Amino acid sequence: MAGQLEALGLRPAGESAEPDVVILNTCAIREKAEAKVYSALGVLGRRKLENPDLVIGVTGCVAQVQGDEILERAPWVDFVLGTGRVESLGETVREIRRERRRIAAYELPEESPVYQFRQITRGSPFQAYVTVIEGCDQFCTFCIVPMTRGRERSRRASEILDELRHLVRLGYTEVTLLGQTVNAFRDPEEGFGLGQLLQRAARVEGLRRLRFITSHPRLVDTEMVEAMASGGVIAPYLHLPAQSGSDRVLYRMKRRYDAATYRALVRRIRSAVPGIAVSSDFIVGFPGETEEEFRSTLELVEELRFESLFAFQYSARSGTASARWGRATEVPESVSAERLGRLLAVQEGIQCEINRGLEGREFEVLIEGRDRKGQCRGRTSCNRIVHLRGVGTVPAGVYVRVRIARGLPNSLLGELVPAEHLPEQGRTAG
Ligand code: SAH
Ligand code: SF4
Repeated sequence: MAGQLEALGLRPAGESAEPDVVILNTCAIREKAEAKVYSALGVLGRRKLENPDLVIGVTGCVAQVQGDEILERAPWVDFVLGTGRVESLGETVREIRRERRRIAAYELPEESPVYQFRQITRGSPFQAYVTVIEGCDQFCTFCIVPMTRGRERSRRASEILDELRHLVRLGYTEVTLLGQTVNAFRDPEEGFGLGQLLQRAARVEGLRRLRFITSHPRLVDTEMVEAMASGGVIAPYLHLPAQSGSDRVLYRMKRRYDAATYRALVRRIRSAVPGIAVSSDFIVGFPGETEEEFRSTLELVEELRFESLFAFQYSARSGTASARWGRATEVPESVSAERLGRLLAVQEGIQCEINRGLEGREFEVLIEGRDRKGQCRGRTSCNRIVHLRGVGTVPAGVYVRVRIARGLPNSLLGELVPAEHLPEQGRTAG
C-alpha cells in the first residue's frame, strides 16, 4: 500500500505533520483491535472538520467485514477497501483526490493472487515478507479469518521465486513466507506443497535465512518435515499453534486434531530437526472451558516446553460459530484473565530454564537494530532475540557470531565472537 501511495507522489507524513491522506489498515482478530478502529475514526472525524480536503480510508479485515457499518457510523470516511482490494488502493486514492466521491469495494477474489511485487515498499532493507497463500479454509469456530480473508488462494511458485530473486538482488538476505495456513500452500501449476516450495526457495542464491508462518498442525506433511530437516537456509523455527491441550476444547474449536496427535507431531519434528525452536498459540477462556480443560493446556505446555508462546483470552467475534453459542457458555472475563496469567507464568519459568541452558553456546545472529539501551539487537536463525553486550557498533543487516553469556526469560544476552575465529565474515546487506 505504501508503494502505491509513493507512486502517486505521496510521502510518509511523520507524526507531527498534517497529512493529506490517512489510512487505517485494520485488524479484526480480537474485539480490542476492532474497538481501536472506531475510536481512531472519531479522532479523524474531528480532524476532517479542520481540513475538509483530508482523505480518510479504511482497509484490512475490519473494512472487509464491517465496511457498510463504517460508512454509516463515520460519514467522514472517503473509502473502504476489503482485503482482496489492496492493489486498487493507489487508483482509489487518486480518484477520490480528483473527484470527491465515496468508494467502497469488498469483493474477495477467488483466483490465484498476482502481485506487482516490484512496487512493494518494505519496512527493512534486509528482511522481507513474501505472501505465498491468502485466505483460510479451516473455519476454526473462534476465528474470523475465513470471513475477512476468504477462501484459500495460493500464489504461483514461479512468481514467488521471481520475487525472492528480486529481493536478493536488492540485498535482502532473510525472507519469511507468509500465509494464514502457510502449509496449505499448493502450487496452482504443478500442485506441490510447502515442502517443495521451501526446497526450491532455499536454492535461490544469496538467501541466508528462510522462514515461514503460520503452520496448521493438521497440514504438516512428510515433505515439509524433510525440508526443515534439510537445514541450510531453512531456519530451524516452527510456529505451530495448538490453541488448547484439551481434546474436548479442540473438538469444539474444530481444530481437527487431538492433544496426543499434536504431542506426537512436535516430538517427530524435534527429532527430525535437531535444534529447532517450536512456538505455539493458545486461547484461554474458550466458551465452556472448565478448570480441568484449562489444566490440560497447562500440562501440554509443561510437557512440550515450547521455546516461545503466544496466549490470548478468547474474544467473541461476530460471524464465527462460537459467537453464536450464547452467554451460558461464556467464561467470565476474570476467570480467563486469571488463566492467562497462570499460563504465562508457567511459560516464563520454562523459557528461563531453556534460555539459561543456552549459556556458553554460539549462534549466528542477524543484527536488526538497537535496543533501548543502545545495544545491538538481533535474532538467531531459530528466532531467539539476542542483545549484544556493550554499546553496539555492528550495523543492522550484518550477520555476526555471538556467544551467549546469559539467558533471560524473553531474550538472550550475548557477546561478539572475535572476527579472527570466524570461518567466514558476515555479509553486509542493504
Ligand atoms: N492462521 C493462524 C493464525 C490465526 S490468528 C493459525 O491458524 O494459527 C493468530 C492467533 O490469534 C490464533 O492462533 C489464535 O490463537 C488467536 N485468535 C484467533 N481468533 C481468536 C479469538 N476469537 N479470540 C482470541 N484469540 C484468537
Ligand atoms: Fe483462523 Fe488459523 Fe483456524 Fe484459519 S486455521 S480459521 S486462520 S485459527
